[in-house]
Amino acid sequence: MDIKELIALGGLFHDIGKPVQRAHLYSGDHSIQGYRFLLDLARETGVKEYETLALFARYHHRKYMEEVEKLKIPDDVKVALYLVYIADNISSREREDERSGYDVRRPLKSVFNRDLSYPLYQLSLERLPIPGTVERIGSEEYRRIVEALKGDMKRVEPRTDKVMPILEKHLTFVSSVTTENNVISLYDHLKMTSAIALALYNAGCRPRSVGEAEKCMKEKNLLLIEGDFSGIQDFIYSVSGKGTLKYLRARSAYLELIGWDIVLKIIKDLNLTLANIVFNAGGHFMIVAQNTKDARNKLEDIRRKVTTWLWKSFEGKLYIGIDWEECSGEELMKDFKEVRGRLKKKVTIRKLKRFEFVDGVFSIGKAEKLEECQICGVEVPEEELKELEFKDGEVAKVCKTCHALWFLGERLIKMEKGLVLTDKITGEGIPGPFSEFLPYEGQLQGKYLLLKNTFNPPRTDMVFVPYVVADYYREKEGRVINFNELAEESMGAKRIGVIKGDVDKLGEYFANRRSISEYSTASRFMDYFFKFYLKGVIRGYYSDIIGEVPSLSEWKENPNVVVVYAGGDDFFIVGSWNEIFELAFRIREAFRRYTGGGLTISMALGYFHPKTPIYRIADVMTERLEKAKDEGRDAIYVIERTGWRISYPWEIYMDFWREIGRKVYSDGRLTEKFGDKKGLLHKVLELRELYVRDPRDVRWAYLLAYHLSRHEVEEVFRRILGIDSKALEEGKPQPIYWVDGILKVILMAVRG
Ligand SMILES: [Zn+2]
Repeated sequence: MDIKELIALGGLFHDIGKPVQRAHLYSGDHSIQGYRFLLDLARETGVKEYETLALFARYHHRKYMEEVEKLKIPDDVKVALYLVYIADNISSREREDERSGYDVRRPLKSVFNRDLSYPLYQLSLERLPIPGTVERIGSEEYRRIVEALKGDMKRVEPRTDKVMPILEKHLTFVSSVTTENNVISLYDHLKMTSAIALALYNAGCRPRSVGEAEKCMKEKNLLLIEGDFSGIQDFIYSVSGKGTLKYLRARSAYLELIGWDIVLKIIKDLNLTLANIVFNAGGHFMIVAQNTKDARNKLEDIRRKVTTWLWKSFEGKLYIGIDWEECSGEELMKDFKEVRGRLKKKVTIRKLKRFEFVDGVFSIGKAEKLEECQICGVEVPEEELKELEFKDGEVAKVCKTCHALWFLGERLIKMEKGLVLTDKITGEGIPGPFSEFLPYEGQLQGKYLLLKNTFNPPRTDMVFVPYVVADYYREKEGRVINFNELAEESMGAKRIGVIKGDVDKLGEYFANRRSISEYSTASRFMDYFFKFYLKGVIRGYYSDIIGEVPSLSEWKENPNVVVVYAGGDDFFIVGSWNEIFELAFRIREAFRRYTGGGLTISMALGYFHPKTPIYRIADVMTERLEKAKDEGRDAIYVIERTGWRISYPWEIYMDFWREIGRKVYSDGRLTEKFGDKKGLLHKVLELRELYVRDPRDVRWAYLLAYHLSRHEVEEVFRRILGIDSKALEEGKPQPIYWVDGILKVILMAVRG
């Protein structure tokens, strides 16, 4: 085994003894138990490498490190042991929290809410992980996890790309250290230890003793690299004319793939492994690398190539700011927040400067005759345009990217398996900055295999990258449903619905993560909600967790919904309007439980005629979401309305729905009492307008009481009857102010 691979794997296995010890499988501390576990694995599989890897489990704590000198093993393995030892120190802050003492039964606390803790699960789409009041994890539970882990390990060769997904599947909910308030998943601790150890090696560190290893940690040997796209919204949605749903999805998938292409190129050129990717989600990535002149030169080169490629391909619509910050292991351990803060500033400046160093930015194409792509609007030399024939016989001239995306779009969406990234450019795939992307059906060969939504490594020589994606779409006649059909499938008003949402104050949340491992856990958990569990929410799973939400119809197993984009911390979903309406609340409730209430989310809803241009829809949605954010976040923009504030705090809307909405409307129609009272509902809306126009005039209150009693429905509307003097004193609106968002939605559902 190559020394670099040995270091990377050594990092990944060094703490394998933790769950083993907690399972009481052997005796001794976790170093000794991990050692024995890996020796047994070597014996049972006949894979000799595990004997060497067992040494990393055995020797990574100070008290054992003195013995390393006397071991009869090759010198480079000793170097590797010292590197993993020191990387373990850097990757964890556990030693500072030792005051609370250790208790092997303590569960992993939630990175979103430290008061709550997780049961011991495997990662699985079927189960939404909810932090609760778990007191302790028993050895039986650990034993199950360790057995399952071992079973999976036996099926793969010892390679970082194959071992990582297995560790992730089984160790995500294992606490990295059993002190009182630990929120770092063991998987992230292992991954970061592996990343740092390899980066130190690449930086030229060759420690022969604990002292030398500690010296490595004090020097500026590491680079933290960050990349962040801007212009994502423009890139995906500013398509004109035939911007169909499947095409939008293809564009958002394409963006994700461009991100992977860049990240994988950095990893390869800098001799790192997938473990060095702290995260790559939502058009944003972070990598740990070595701080050497060679690495910085390569990064400069990659940045220049990516920027030029983006400029040429999308005319500046899409940009990625990539930058790096040098630091010592010690800084990464003690001052991660500061290091990351400095890096973030650099990336922001980089994003502002954009294309300054692309040659010919201001002179591009002046000599040649340019023509616009009829889909995305990019200007390219006339001869580069390709003809695209639509089903209706119309022919458009489009750029080569749109051409490829159009034809591969359907395959990209429907692909069961995944994608191959290859550096052989055949012209048959979709072009990326460094590779070509081809849908994988089981035969292709390439550099990387991005396999969808699985943590089970395939048998392949290609590097396996788990490609988690919220790929839900409603199928119609074997293809992706279209806008017209979504509107047709909707209730009442034939409209498509759109939700756009993102997590509140996320920048602040991430800026406060104390260590790189905590950052890794937090970003992974966040991304998985939108990429992994969101699909479960759409399919109607987790109903017991979500509970009752505002609903216009029964939730179907295959709802009329298409996820255009979801990942990182945000999403954009379209569907039949009534289903989209309910989905918003389902997502919110699932998210609230998923984060233990530690974070909030804001969303905007929109209802559109199916012929509305997509760029227009995207603009309206952006404005609405901003409105909900401006009005205090933790809110949903349900409907256009007038008055004091437009969006609803989630709880207010759900309260009003429970108290009024449900009594007016249920089981897909107006309730018996209201079957013939649409006129009255309109009257209530009128009276609300009267109140909004002049809040000091109380005529609305008398009129409301009069009309409701005439129809004998005061009981249903009790919440909004009369003047609420407390609200008046506090300068808050009268309850009637909130009723329109409920009634208008209901009236839309029963529109004939
Ligand atoms: Zn185009």
